[in-house]
Amino acid sequence: MTAKHLLIGTAAAITLTVPACDKPSSEKIETEAVAQTTAAPLPDITVTEAELRGNPFRQEWTADFGVPPFSAIRDAHYLPAVKQGLLEQREEIAAIVDNPDAPTFDNTIVALDQSGAALDKVMKTFSNITNTDINDTLSELEAEIYPMLTRESDAIGFNPALFERVQAVYAKRDRLGLDEQDARLLELTHRSFVRRGAALSPDVKAQVAAINEELSGLTTLFGKNLLLATKTFEIEITDQADLAGLPDDFKNAIKVEGEDKWILTVDRSVYETFMTQGENRDLRSKMFDGYRMRASSGEYDNGPILIRIAELRAKRAELMGYASHAAYQLEPRMAKTPAQAEAFLVRVLAPALERAKEERADMQALIGDDFQLEGYDWWFYADKVRQAKYAFDETALKPYFEIGAVRQGVFDVATQLFNIGFTPVATETWNPDVQAWNLKDLATGEHLGLFMADMYSRDSKRGGAWMSSFRSASNVGENIRPIVANNLNITPPAKGEPTLLSYDQVETLFHEFGHGLHGLLTQVKYATFSGVDGPRDYTEFPAQVLEHWADDPEVLAKYAKHYKTGEIIPQTLVDKMNAAATFNQGFKTTEYIAASLLDLRWHSLSSEEAAKITDARAFEKEVLEEYGIPPEIEPRYRSQYFSHIFSGGYSAGYYGYLWAEILDADGFAAFKQSGDIYNPELAAKLKKWIYEAGGTREADELYRNFRGSDPTIEPLLENRGFAEDKPSEG
Ligand SMILES: [Zn+2]
Repeated sequence: MTAKHLLIGTAAAITLTVPACDKPSSEKIETEAVAQTTAAPLPDITVTEAELRGNPFRQEWTADFGVPPFSAIRDAHYLPAVKQGLLEQREEIAAIVDNPDAPTFDNTIVALDQSGAALDKVMKTFSNITNTDINDTLSELEAEIYPMLTRESDAIGFNPALFERVQAVYAKRDRLGLDEQDARLLELTHRSFVRRGAALSPDVKAQVAAINEELSGLTTLFGKNLLLATKTFEIEITDQADLAGLPDDFKNAIKVEGEDKWILTVDRSVYETFMTQGENRDLRSKMFDGYRMRASSGEYDNGPILIRIAELRAKRAELMGYASHAAYQLEPRMAKTPAQAEAFLVRVLAPALERAKEERADMQALIGDDFQLEGYDWWFYADKVRQAKYAFDETALKPYFEIGAVRQGVFDVATQLFNIGFTPVATETWNPDVQAWNLKDLATGEHLGLFMADMYSRDSKRGGAWMSSFRSASNVGENIRPIVANNLNITPPAKGEPTLLSYDQVETLFHEFGHGLHGLLTQVKYATFSGVDGPRDYTEFPAQVLEHWADDPEVLAKYAKHYKTGEIIPQTLVDKMNAAATFNQGFKTTEYIAASLLDLRWHSLSSEEAAKITDARAFEKEVLEEYGIPPEIEPRYRSQYFSHIFSGGYSAGYYGYLWAEILDADGFAAFKQSGDIYNPELAAKLKKWIYEAGGTREADELYRNFRGSDPTIEPLLENRGFAEDKPSEG
């Protein structure tokens, strides 16, 4: 995600369709929500009647399931509809604020929740289409529209008169006799205002605003420096012997046209390929340093910048009454406190380090006595070990994973677990590749939602895989059911050929479908907490847990059949695939946790502590040594190029990917332990407390209600191959 992923805190108004995430393995960076605490006066917006004439976003959509009239929508329709939507939203907010009646739950909290409906209608389609079918006009529109939305959202979040009314309702919350969902809406609305700083005194607000402004500049500068520092590093090669071990297509890709010259850069893909396959050890060492020392000195040194970012974030948190930025960030998440997140990471780190030691020994054995393995050798020798111990032909898997069969496989899992059925339907779509299904409750026959799948890559579609919504579910007066899309980027097959998936793509399909079910099954009153929105260390759980069914032998036997012969995938092949999955996990887990710990430690500093740091690398070294990270394992990110946390929206949140893995491993273990991966009692709880519940309660409570207890970490350790007594099967 890029700038379009607005982290809008207010419960009100603008609920953008935010793709529910790529798979966690992919690089996902969001911009930091740098909200202003003092709302700048809003500029006038004008839109004429002529501009709105015939605009599909201003009409009622009458197609089945409320599908947008895609064929009638032109690029030129978006901006006027957005403007009109913003104007209506301003009126709706003004009506709440100017209401002469005393603030009530209905006239303030519900009214706020319901405001911005016209804007939401156009933005849902706009954000979907700009992700799947972008063009120059739409790109320009994005650059114009998103800043407008941020500005309006800030104006709502920092409207003192509005907050006063919210505050008034909140103050009497115990006497209002609200039901659970109403009480939740009130709680979340109030919380989002407070967490933005609406409750601060004018004097403190001004200080926070100044910090936000400085931070906005620094986080942008951090990203810019990193880009330039990355571009600046190059190694020129004139002797082809230096490229020994590398594949031809790689060599061709880095060759300077018309010359006997090759350029190595520290772009991640070039770096990974060279570090894994490049035989020249001296060059590997240079690449290694080039990569890990980026933006650490000279003109583009991010060290002083990130120290200042850490200090300012700490200062802001202190002004809001928190001990640290991490304490502020983690409060609404499952981990709740930095100490809990840290304890979790340390717990997984211990067996990961043990495993890494074994991996190191395996590699040293290959090397012999010639030299000691160094950080720049790890990738290279790990790959040698992999070839010796775990090699298998991954292309042999593909014929067993034809896309239609895989999709039927995931539908069948959902049917068995939740008693829901999928019927293909013909609807308008945004692209001829898109297919749609009507999702029904098989017990009642009731329509639950529309599921749409856009599986193939094309030039106009952004990379990765994600889930998104064209319409969110809500039930205020009218029961509105959702329209949910899954988007993947599978290369289209040659004409007349079947689409055969790699196992990684199979997992992605199950994963995104898990997000999809979270959006489709949701049974909540207010769209604010329907479906997939939730704390960062929880929202991956409903997606990740479904991946466990994908490679369960019982499920594979139903869907993984050879597309030509119908033969079920041989168990020997599955075993090889599973064995390869735990390879090098000691290293991978350690490098990830090292980066997560750096993130937490930078953001657990007080402003005073941060101000005293003069050398970012020295601080980093101290932290890594304290946790016993061996020098030959590089953290996944070093501070100076950790853009997730210093220029993206992940500060004090990088641990979240692994945290969600505790839940999915533990959640699936419940089914396994019961002896029935479709255990009806567990499935009913999973449906009720996870897929239907959205954000009606705090994430830890939802999980406990499903599982009957807090999650334990052992299943995660086992899945990563760290369990002490490895069971002989399973
Ligand atoms: Zn996901």
